[in-house]
Amino acid sequence: METITTACIALNASVQSKEEAIRLAGRLLADAGYIDPGYIASLEKREEVANTFLGAGVAIPHGMIEDRHLIHHTGVAVVQVRDGVAWKDGEHAKLIVAIAAQSDEHITLLRRLTRLMQRPDGIDMLVTTDDAELIVSTLADTPAQPPFPAPEALAWPSDAEQSWSVDYPNGLHARPATRWVETAKRFASEIRIYKGHEFADAKALTGLLSLGVTRGDEIRIAARGSEARRAVEALLETIQSLSADERADAERARRNALASRREAPEWTPAGEAQTLYGLPASPGLATGILVHHAGHRFDVEDQPGDVVRDGEALEAAVLAVAAELEKLEAETKVRLGASEAAIFAAHRELLADADLLRQAVVTILHGHGPAWAWKKTLGTRIEALQKLKDPLLAARATDLRDVGDRVLAKLLGVERQQLVLTAPSILVAEDLTPSDTLQLDMRYVAALAISGGGPTSHTAILARTLGLPAVVAAGTALLAAPAGRPAVVDGSVGAVYLDVSANDLNGAEAVIAKQHAAREALRESRHLPATTLDGHTVEIAANVANAAQAASAIEAGAEGVGLMRTEFLFLERDSAPGEEEQYRVYREMAETMAGRTLIIRTLDIGGDKQVPYLNLPHEENPFLGVRGARLLLTRQDLLYTQLRALYRAAAHGPIKIMFPMVTHIAEIEALREHCERAREQVGGPKLAIGIMVEVPAVAVMADRFAPLVDFFSVGTNDLTQYTLAVDRQHPELAAQADSLHPAVLGLIANTVAAAKKYGTWVGVCGGLAGDPLGARILTGLGVDELSMSAQDVAAVKAELRKTSFAEIQALARRALAARNADEVRSL
Ligand code: PEP
Ligand code: MG
Repeated sequence: METITTACIALNASVQSKEEAIRLAGRLLADAGYIDPGYIASLEKREEVANTFLGAGVAIPHGMIEDRHLIHHTGVAVVQVRDGVAWKDGEHAKLIVAIAAQSDEHITLLRRLTRLMQRPDGIDMLVTTDDAELIVSTLADTPAQPPFPAPEALAWPSDAEQSWSVDYPNGLHARPATRWVETAKRFASEIRIYKGHEFADAKALTGLLSLGVTRGDEIRIAARGSEARRAVEALLETIQSLSADERADAERARRNALASRREAPEWTPAGEAQTLYGLPASPGLATGILVHHAGHRFDVEDQPGDVVRDGEALEAAVLAVAAELEKLEAETKVRLGASEAAIFAAHRELLADADLLRQAVVTILHGHGPAWAWKKTLGTRIEALQKLKDPLLAARATDLRDVGDRVLAKLLGVERQQLVLTAPSILVAEDLTPSDTLQLDMRYVAALAISGGGPTSHTAILARTLGLPAVVAAGTALLAAPAGRPAVVDGSVGAVYLDVSANDLNGAEAVIAKQHAAREALRESRHLPATTLDGHTVEIAANVANAAQAASAIEAGAEGVGLMRTEFLFLERDSAPGEEEQYRVYREMAETMAGRTLIIRTLDIGGDKQVPYLNLPHEENPFLGVRGARLLLTRQDLLYTQLRALYRAAAHGPIKIMFPMVTHIAEIEALREHCERAREQVGGPKLAIGIMVEVPAVAVMADRFAPLVDFFSVGTNDLTQYTLAVDRQHPELAAQADSLHPAVLGLIANTVAAAKKYGTWVGVCGGLAGDPLGARILTGLGVDELSMSAQDVAAVKAELRKTSFAEIQALARRALAARNADEVRSL
């Protein structure tokens, strides 16, 4: 049976009093067979003990819990009183929504009502309509319907709109969503984010998360009110400026996942030990005593009291927790840095979500105690998040539970349990919330072993930041392991060893000591060249974005900069940097490098890196669109500003210019001419001009490109995605974008062979260069330079020093003959 039908709707009812309205609603429910007529008295009784006026002209009369036996089926009646009827304390109700609920099926209806109330026209429309069907379709709980009223039923004319195709590899999760909310809140306008017909208030975090926005979704930002246009523009800019960080995070996770796939355990127990396998979340080996972190289980009894006092208690608890979170954020910023502290800002946003609070208040109004109402509201929301198809978004339920439990603890007047550790411990938990993790006494936490969770959870991210070995998703058997026993965690392979013998424990500790010494040795030898045992040297450089990074890369052992990505100069701002600003940046870079190699890549915008102020047209396939050099050739204003700045800066130190995403001979010919013209304009020195090899066409035709350029640098990230036809950020396919694939290696070998014929220098600046096996194969293929992130420099150098050139040349030959990337890895 339907919860709401036209039979239970009284349009334009003429009632003189609140009592009359309630009785009319009750009769509609009884006549339709939802309730026994006796329940009408129960509706009236509720009014004596509570105020059912919800706000914005809506009242929700409902009976007493003890009279629920008089309900045959859950049902709703609506009485429309266009001029309103006096309710309580001077309030007037125009829409009386009487609810007879057997349990909590009506919560969805209340959510819809409260959402409608947020919009000026939402309730008005229901008060003035002559169409009972419209009321039914707006309030009905039919699963086939979109969760919110269809736009044609609820026109919401906006004053400004923009669309965006979501390119965050992990979809919209709490951290970026918090930044969206922060920006939206700077404006008085009403702002909505639409995904298809669903929408959320851009100022409410949980609503945004519930939209389940994933990569590739088209969203629409709509605003109305005085600052609508500025609000939409600012929000779009925030949204897009976060793309680079989101991509970098995903790339790191992908590399971790690939690395763990090929990692053989450095230690396994010789004796008997129970082994539980989970997922590697943070690398490293650790020993310790098992300690269980029970988490917070709150038994909540439903204790309804005075509605007003209960509402106030909830508000006080929420405010107290908000203050607590603010303090934690400040402390964490000092202890670990701004990006870790951002988790608590996200938690505060979750708490500031008006929708969440309103639902809890509505549940209190419905006759429940504040703690019960809060737990119920939270549970529904968590369940909704967990049901989302995207596991990354579903994992954010942990954040909501974390912050929700804090409020619950306050409401119940209990202290959240703090774990006291006195010896090196392996912490076992079903799931650790970020607050739990950050409040641990790090002196005694050796590792984390989590039965649930995932490698992208905030806890996993935090564990990596803290350098704490961690395994997640190890299964429930872990929770049954007896506490106080010695165990070993291998975060690199994702294993937990229980009941380890004293001998094995000693063995593991010896390996840990060796790992520690190896890390020290790496640090000490970082400035030695990457010269093989038989005397072949390959140059090791770093990929950087600015002079500060260049300086720390040199400190980490890099001998030059093989790739400076200049697009970072263009992101997170309102307009393109001018010639003078760019000149200063490149000059500082040149001075920092003090004569060392410095390859500066021109702007690589397009593809996954978008810059709103350039107003570039929307493309269906941006990776195959106007990207890199293609853009520069059509936007010569950008090209000349950058080239003139580079030629001027070259007076302060050697610079090589590199163009990204070149595909055709004609492109490099044109670019060379532009370089010469820019050079003449500013009177700079002649500079080496090279191209990235990242489009397969260039690798295949390298013999025709080589005479036209001074150097090549292979971008294995893009070369791989274009060769294997796998989007490098695709959440499911990204692991297939494996640069060790023989097809990719074959293209690199072809490039090197062609370059050698013309004496053209070849570097590699894609991710493969920083991978120890990749570096060996690339060196074996004969490349002149490897450029990577600074943190990989020392390990790659050490790896190459351990081997002979003859040996890695043979390895490269075998890799070229392999059938797939796994076969290459097994070499
Ligand atoms: C590459 O494609 O390998 C590369 C180094 O460029 P980016 O990652 O900036 O596209
Ligand atoms: Mg690239």
